[in-house]
Amino acid sequence: MDFNRLKGTRLKGKTVIVRVDFNVPRNKDGSISDDTRLQAALPTIKHLQKSGAKTILLSHFGRPKGKPDEALSLRFIVPALAEALDSEVMFSPNLNTQVVTVLEPGGVMLMENTRFHKGETEGDKELAQEFAALGDIFIQDAFSAAHRNHASSAVIGEILPSFAGLAMERELDHISQALINPKSPVMGVVGGAKVSTKIDLLKNLVSKLDILAIGGGMANTFLYAQGHKVGASLCETDFKDTALEIMKNAKKEKCKIILPTDVVVAKDFKANADHRQCGLDDVKAKEMILDCGSASVEELMDAMDAAKTLIWNGPLGAFELTPFDTSTVEAAKYAAKLTKKGKLVSVAGGGDTVAALKHAGAADDFTFISTAGGAFLEWMEGKPLPGVEILKKKQK
Ligand code: AMP
Repeated sequence: MDFNRLKGTRLKGKTVIVRVDFNVPRNKDGSISDDTRLQAALPTIKHLQKSGAKTILLSHFGRPKGKPDEALSLRFIVPALAEALDSEVMFSPNLNTQVVTVLEPGGVMLMENTRFHKGETEGDKELAQEFAALGDIFIQDAFSAAHRNHASSAVIGEILPSFAGLAMERELDHISQALINPKSPVMGVVGGAKVSTKIDLLKNLVSKLDILAIGGGMANTFLYAQGHKVGASLCETDFKDTALEIMKNAKKEKCKIILPTDVVVAKDFKANADHRQCGLDDVKAKEMILDCGSASVEELMDAMDAAKTLIWNGPLGAFELTPFDTSTVEAAKYAAKLTKKGKLVSVAGGGDTVAALKHAGAADDFTFISTAGGAFLEWMEGKPLPGVEILKKKQK
């Protein structure tokens, strides 16, 4: 994918505004419980420091409803960021352009939570102008916020010359490897609870992929649409026609759909519940399908053997409850093994996917796992992401 990259951009002496995602999870005592997002921002900031630029950081934190809320101040990030960068980090509670003048080349300043301003989530042009007035160029380094047309993540990019940060670049290069210019055959694995939350995603994927394996609760709706009895399973009967339409489109687009051919059922939705494996037409009225069966997993693995690219979203069963994590774990491990051997490019992301692949111990061997939930899903749905579109604008 073509977009503006930092490489070759003159940064020395420039004041650079970087949109990062410091919306990190916190413990009850206020400490950071997972600093993945903070770590992700470091390469770009360090690159700017080395290049002699002045760095202004913008981020949202929580949902403060467009007005200051001390409990959601970003000030708590400063010590952790300063330690990670091994340099001083200044903090500004307001957008006064005078504040920025104290920055030396190599200096870093974090601005207060962008969502303290009412116009942020409305994509307000005037607020974007205020952000833009702080610097000379804009770097978007928060893929996880790129699906939002917010003032600090997209609208500012219509005002200033805009470039992808290093984390953003890595994310865009990897995801385009899976859907924009992939090596075929391209296979998708889509699981999770409901068809209703992933209609656009399924519709887009059948037009792009060679094979689509559907698992998890949403497969029940497809099986029901095909006339199978699904007992007490999670099943969206209202979405029968949607499932049939997706299958019809898949046929037209020559995308082969793989559905479970055998299933694991239980009467209770709990870990270690009494369970059995059975064929599709043997699910009793009080039983719930909680996982794919072993023949289905075999079929998935055969399909992975034939594929060159794999894109994965959602678990194949109720993976939080043993043993209903079995098909997710086995299929994920197999994908990881093929990737490690260099036979498969595997990209995964969205919602519970990261947790499911980590649970399978497969996360480290996937080619790329996106930690951006909503943005990854919208990209899989084929929607343009405002925070990415601004990076495609030609620079003068
Ligand atoms: P999603 O957020 O749509 O990706 O859905 C993830 C959730 O789907 C997980 O919490 C799984 O436990 C749940 N899930 C997957 N398969 C099933 C199933 N067969 N029955 C009920 N829940 C399921």
